[in-house]
Amino acid sequence: MLTVLQLPVLNDNYIYLLHDPVSAETAVVDPAVAQPVLDILEQKGWRLTYILNTHHHSDHVGGNSELKQKTGCTVIAALSDQPRIPGFDRGVVDGDVITLGRHSAKVISTPGHTSGHIVYHFADDNLLFCGDTLFVMGCGRLFEGTAEQMWQSLQKLKALPESTQLYCAHEYSQANGRFALTVEPDNRQLQQRMEMINQLRAQHLPTVPSTIEQELATNPFFREDSSALQKTIHKINNRPVDVFTEIRLLKDRF
Ligand code: ZN
Ligand code: FE
Repeated sequence: MLTVLQLPVLNDNYIYLLHDPVSAETAVVDPAVAQPVLDILEQKGWRLTYILNTHHHSDHVGGNSELKQKTGCTVIAALSDQPRIPGFDRGVVDGDVITLGRHSAKVISTPGHTSGHIVYHFADDNLLFCGDTLFVMGCGRLFEGTAEQMWQSLQKLKALPESTQLYCAHEYSQANGRFALTVEPDNRQLQQRMEMINQLRAQHLPTVPSTIEQELATNPFFREDSSALQKTIHKINNRPVDVFTEIRLLKDRF
């Protein structure tokens, strides 16, 4: 078993710590800041082995340098992002496998939010660390990619097993859900999910992780084929990528 700890930091970021008790190896995904990670490491008596970055934005790499300096960990990130990842040690590309003890994750390239964005899929553990590519009922903004690229990237995630646990890097669920309801107001599962999410957030509890199954049922960026959604946005029988592009535009203006 891999132990996964979720640390809420900054306004709405999540940092994830992964620990394999057998090998005593520990990884941190997207350390926005260093101190909360150092505190947990000390509290648990864990030694940091790796930083796994999904992309170069400061709210994902802000803790890299300090963590590397204080723990001697190895920084892993997309090879193409080498110049813009602090402390970069090891570059990975689509299909590469990284290991944490006997656990392994496949790197999947998901350009769109940024050109070099990658996600880490621990297939045997059923975990996906998806950074800013996929959110609960949302997807990342297109800063360095086209809608077509992001759509292609999301198709890769859509194809993962439905039970895959999604660990995204932000708590954006409430705002995403409000938008989702504007494009699919009659989606019963979406309505129910929003009620649940509102209850969790009222108690300041995380709504992450999610699952691929839940996203297939409620995430508008996974639902280009919904005829109800197509009807709301006046894109009936358009190509899926064109429906996606329109939803992304509407969300940007929401
Ligand atoms: Zn980002
Ligand atoms: Fe971010």
